[in-house]
Amino acid sequence: MDADVVIVGAGPTGLVLACELHLAGARPIVLERLDRPTGLSKALGLLGRSVDSLERRGRLGHFQERAAVAFPTSAHFALIPLDAGKLDGLGLRGLFIQQAATEELLNEWARELGVEIRRGHEVTALHQDDDGVSVEVHGPQGPGQLRARYAVGCDGGTSVVRKAAGIEFPGIPPTFLLRLGDVTLEGDLTPQDIPDVRVPLIPLGAGYYRVIITEPYPADLDRDAPMTLDELRAAIRRANAGRDLPISGARWLSRFTDSSRQAARYRSGRVLIAGDAAHIHLPAGGPGLNTGLLDAFNLGWKLGATVAGWAPPALLDSYHSERHPEGERVLLHTRAQGTLMGAGADARVAALREVLGPLLQYREPLRHLLNLMYALDTRYDTGPADRHPLAGRWAPDLALTTPSGITSTAELLHPARGVLLDLTGTGALAGAAAGWKDRVNVVAADCPEPPAAALLIRPDGHVAWATDADTHPAEGLDQALAVWFGAPN
Ligand SMILES: Cc1cc2nc3c(=O)[nH]c(=O)nc-3n(C[C@H](O)[C@H](O)[C@H](O)COP(=O)(O)OP(=O)(O)OC[C@H]3O[C@@H](n4cnc5c(N)ncnc54)[C@H](O)[C@@H]3O)c2cc1C
Repeated sequence: MDADVVIVGAGPTGLVLACELHLAGARPIVLERLDRPTGLSKALGLLGRSVDSLERRGRLGHFQERAAVAFPTSAHFALIPLDAGKLDGLGLRGLFIQQAATEELLNEWARELGVEIRRGHEVTALHQDDDGVSVEVHGPQGPGQLRARYAVGCDGGTSVVRKAAGIEFPGIPPTFLLRLGDVTLEGDLTPQDIPDVRVPLIPLGAGYYRVIITEPYPADLDRDAPMTLDELRAAIRRANAGRDLPISGARWLSRFTDSSRQAARYRSGRVLIAGDAAHIHLPAGGPGLNTGLLDAFNLGWKLGATVAGWAPPALLDSYHSERHPEGERVLLHTRAQGTLMGAGADARVAALREVLGPLLQYREPLRHLLNLMYALDTRYDTGPADRHPLAGRWAPDLALTTPSGITSTAELLHPARGVLLDLTGTGALAGAAAGWKDRVNVVAADCPEPPAAALLIRPDGHVAWATDADTHPAEGLDQALAVWFGAPN
């Protein structure tokens, strides 16, 4: 075998997955068709649990240093402003950071860990058998083949891996087209210098502005024809009462749509898919990166455990059963947003927006929507041990005092191992999980308002089991350890 896992695609999802697999003790190789990162950014922000997940690996500080602004309180639903600052305890955090910087920082993490990334390597086909996966790749030296135990397609919406694995991608076709340009303006003009401009210009820094024009999807569009500046200019004129914008140049021109699709299965034998390879949708509200990164954090430790040999048989399948419903939720709210702001929006849609706008200023609808959009209320099914209200939820961020000093939930998860957090105050669980000590750290700690007497936290930061009883042996703990961390030694 050339690697334990071949990851196809060094976008954000592939890079996080590679780091997580490395932390889990597996040897991944990442194959990326581009010779070098483009330096261009689809996403301009990172919002939701992916931000918290980076903190739980000790990487968030790097992102905060590069972020233009942290915007924890403002979001929108189909451009209807949402004020998250009204809500206590929501836990929504975000960073205004361009995707190119996000990818640079994830590449840096992978480099520090020593993950092998082969650039200029395009995967063209893939075949699996009982023992592994053979990947056909076209690299700088020409065609070749790689063999690995598993392959994961993180190769974006047009995923070759998904198609080669025969995974269906059902969904709905586009109804509108968005033409995007990252442009400069003539003579260092700013939007304030241009009277009556009806198209929004988002400042990107270094004199660049992002302009996006939405129109009904043209029946005769050739999607393979490269987008040109003339095409963008014509769309701007149509949207801007026949007037031009004084554009002097563009570093990126692209088209995208409201088409939304989701893979029917995230796993086919030894082949898995994650990120845009598994789900595409309108990038309304910016849920794409968040969802892809959370796929990677969910899959990394499970696939790592499978490669290491200690994973219970159902663990890898729980990647699909946990993440597919989360992808469905993203399609749900982005389709709704597309309906509310699409190019075909007429007086009926305008009326609906007018009714919805004030409703979304009330706390409970606001909380419901933000939980949905940023996966803040995700609850995975933790099976028979699922008795405590925290089971399956994102583990609470706690300030902890241990015999060796002050720490936090986030810091305890830096090594990407399981954590049994004993908050009984008596160290009652000191001897628990002894059979799992190569996979689970047991930490006794005090915290001001413990949310439970003990918590078993998975490497991806979700609670596998919790109890309010401070007795040992703790009911259901051994069972939960076996479900999520395999047989004891
Ligand atoms: C205009 C726009 C704005 C957006 N804004 C936001 C936002 O604000 N917030 C947000 O969260 N999301 C946003 N998104 C969505 C976000 O950009 C994507 O969800 C994200 O890039 C998905 O990451 P990924 O790693 O799964 O896939 P990708 O970023 O598509 O990466 C796939 C990688 O695989 C490589 N690859 C493909 N095929 C092969 C092959 N055969 N062999 C080898 N390598 C291959 C590609 O070169 C690429 O590097 C936006 C999207 C668009 C279009």
